[in-house]
Parts: sequence; structure tokens; C-alpha cells
Amino acid sequence: MKEDIYRAAQLFKEQANSLSQEESLPLFDQQKDQYDQEYSSFLEHYKRGKCYLCGKPFKTISKSTPCLHWLLRQCKFKKKDFPKITEKFDYYNISAFLRWVANAESGVKNINNLKEESSERKLFESTIEWKNIGWTLDCSKNDFEGHAGSQTDFPHWHFQMRVDGNRFINFGDYHIPLSKDDQLKIVLENDPESGFIHTFGPGGQGMQEHMDYLAHDPDGYLSSVSTTSNPENGVVHMQSIVRGPEGGISGDKINEALEMARNTDKSLAYCFRDIFAGEEGVAITTIASPAESVPQIAKRTERKRR
Ligand SMILES: [Zn+2]
Ligand SMILES: [Zn+2]
Repeated sequence: MKEDIYRAAQLFKEQANSLSQEESLPLFDQQKDQYDQEYSSFLEHYKRGKCYLCGKPFKTISKSTPCLHWLLRQCKFKKKDFPKITEKFDYYNISAFLRWVANAESGVKNINNLKEESSERKLFESTIEWKNIGWTLDCSKNDFEGHAGSQTDFPHWHFQMRVDGNRFINFGDYHIPLSKDDQLKIVLENDPESGFIHTFGPGGQGMQEHMDYLAHDPDGYLSSVSTTSNPENGVVHMQSIVRGPEGGISGDKINEALEMARNTDKSLAYCFRDIFAGEEGVAITTIASPAESVPQIAKRTERKRR
């Protein structure tokens, strides 16, 4: 079965590479339009406490039509009904929905998909928080291969859900099968030559996409962000080091930068850059790291393989 996936991935690569730009752009735009439409429908429903997938309020549950909004646990969702969800929705469906709700509630900061904080053995590992709920989606290379010689000898992933900080679903409770589509996307995403980049759209961005953007356009980033006095709302923590020429840095200019930071909502990093722009011999280094308020990735301890 695994061969099927690799063959499909190969085929995808060949087809994608054979398309000219004129052929592939309209295809891309069409998909983007579809995604944008879906996302605006999501937002419209979300504002009214409703689910865009089934059209019902988050507080309702109907056992005959399993839905992703159950995972918000605004309704009387029970752990034993979790498989009903995973029979109907695959990893990418679930992940997109959870990212969208977390992002709509508090932006990128509650979506920790940082590669730096993820283990190398994982194909994906992310923790998403929304109100009183925390979800962790986790798949190691072993899970993708299937645990050989066991009943779970099929490609799968693991899920943990916390409600008010207490475990509601444990990593070990379910081995959730990866759909064919999931497997194909995972193979392509992890193949740097595939040219395939999966995106959850503007409403699905997490900390990794945020840090990527910062690295890609630091000046644009600094001029667009504002500071917060509430540490709970922080997304990125910035530290600036200012080095001056031999004669030292003008104290007046430093005060000017500090005052600008106090009187505007611009970061100190931005103000230093602005005030010292063009100043001979002054070098400003800014180190950006995810803020303290970003949730940690909940770690799964893998069972030793026998
Ligand atoms: Zn629903
Ligand atoms: Zn497993």
C-alpha cells in the first residue's frame, strides 16, 4: 500500500513540473478563490458561535452527523465519540479547523507548530490552544510507517486533547489512520524537490509561518507590528543590541528612541532603527524569539519498540 503513495507522489511531481506557468497559475487562483470563500464562510459563522460545516451552533451535537465543532467541546461531546469524527475527517481537515478557530480567537500565538521545538523524529507535532481547550497533533516517522508486527501496523497519527488543563483524550487512546490524501501530502511536504507547499490559508497560520515571515521581511515586520504591555498577548519577543562607533553612541539619540517607543506602539527595535538610520558606525542587531505566552508543544512519550 505504501508503494501506492510514493508512486502517486512521483506522479504528482512529474505533472506539476510539466505544467507551464500559464497552465498552473489559473489552477492556483481557482483553488485560492475556493479557499477564500470557505474561510469567509467560516468567519461569518464563527462570529455567531456557529459551525460553517454543519451550520449548527457550537453548543449542539447530533450523533448522526459527526462534526469537527464537537472538538470545541461547547456541546456534550464524549471521548468515546471521537472515532466518529476521525472516520469522517482526516488529519488535514482536523488540523485546518483547529487552526482556524485558534487563529480567529487569538491570532498565530496559540498555534505552536514551530519546527525548532519539534523533535526530528516527527513528521508533524503541534499544539493548538483555544479558550479552555488544548489539542496536540503528533505523528512520528514510526507512526507513519505503522508499528510493525502489532495491530497498529498502518500509517497513523496520535491526538491529545485537554479540557481546563486536564487530559480528556490521551495520545495512547487512539491510533488514527492517515487517509490516502494525508499520506500523499505528508510525503510531498517532506520532499524538498516536490515543489509542494501545503498552506492552511491566511486564517491557518501558526507561529512557524509567522517566524518565517519575520525572517523573510524583517523591516516590513518591524514596521507592521505593535508592542503590547500585556505579556499574555505577546507573540514575538525582541531583544536589540545597539553597537556604536568608537566615540560611543549619543545619549540624546538613545533617549529619543526610548521616548519614541514610549509614545508610539512601535517596538524598541523599530525605534532604534528609525532614530539611528544612516548614522555612521551604528549597528543594531535584533534577536526575535517566540514569546513566553506561546504554549509549549505537549510532548508524547513514545512506547519503546520491542
Ligand atoms: Zn459542525
Ligand atoms: Zn503510534
